[in-house]
Amino acid sequence: MPDARIIDGRRIAAEIREEVRAEASRFFDTEGIRPRVVFVLVGKNPASEVYVRNKGIAAEEAGFSHETHTLPEQVEEDELLDLIRAINADPATHGLLVQFPLPKQVREERVIELLAPEKDVDGFHPLNAGRLSIGQGDYFAPCTPLGVMELLSREGVETSGRHAVVVGRSNLVGKPVALLLAQKKRGANAVVTLAHSGAGARLGEITREADILIAAMGVPKAITAGMVKEGAVVIDVGINRIEDSSRASGSRLVGDVEFETVKHKASAITPVPGGVGPMTIAMLLRNTLLAAKRQRAGAIPSTR
Ligand code: NDP
Repeated sequence: MPDARIIDGRRIAAEIREEVRAEASRFFDTEGIRPRVVFVLVGKNPASEVYVRNKGIAAEEAGFSHETHTLPEQVEEDELLDLIRAINADPATHGLLVQFPLPKQVREERVIELLAPEKDVDGFHPLNAGRLSIGQGDYFAPCTPLGVMELLSREGVETSGRHAVVVGRSNLVGKPVALLLAQKKRGANAVVTLAHSGAGARLGEITREADILIAAMGVPKAITAGMVKEGAVVIDVGINRIEDSSRASGSRLVGDVEFETVKHKASAITPVPGGVGPMTIAMLLRNTLLAAKRQRAGAIPSTR
């Protein structure tokens, strides 16, 4: 069997970002509204700073209005909540993203539950998570899972009736990916298994059943060739930094899949970096444009 087709997430993400830019420009021409997204960054986590900076650059390139509020590491929970209330109440802001993790004195669930669901472009609020789960109404799905679905769709991977195994059940990635894949609609309709650490030694037996295997574990190179069915499509969500003395930096990024061996077994595979990673920001832009359009149309689900 020939080696797997390498799914180029950078190219696909660039395509989506260009589509969003063009659509946002049309929206501005017809409605006079520029999508606006506000980022909230707390403390000095270097990875979070890079993520928020990159999201700001992407928003700029898409022609969106954007702003980043930076709060100190020691911020009181109430001060952060007041800022979120103010952004919720600002009719000119369509998307609101609070970068996680937050310092320990701030309860993440209080932040998530306060987000206006119609501005929650990360899809974290329980109303959005609940609507994704029941598959009804307007909602925002989280950006990385949406990116996985978009990669499958744009690569022409048939999901309907096929067995998708998702490894990882976080609320951020694994669980929403499984829910999206299982939805009874075109581009989904997969038969889904949601695996996690409880699978223990049976994990390989379960993953070998997968036509489509999604790894979202946070364990470097955990999925080896022996765990993959011949011809499977393998989507690697993992981003793990491992030591590499051959690099000037002393480290490099790898996924949850052992790419070098699995590429000989799979029919298509995402690399790390350059696979799922770039899709997250592209889907954030798409969710923000969608938020602006929904708010323009007055379709505002509110729990308050
Ligand atoms: P979490 O740590 O929140 O969740 C990991 C999940 O994997 C858990 O459900 C855990 O099981 C399961 N798991 C861990 N080890 C094993 C194992 N040996 N066998 C079976 N299941 C296992 O991680 P996230 O979901 O937040 O992230 C997953 C990966 O995706 C990370 O590498 C992260 O960096 C990356 N990521 C990439 C993004 C992107 O933009 N591409 C965005 C977000 C994350 P249990 O529940 O039992 O503990």
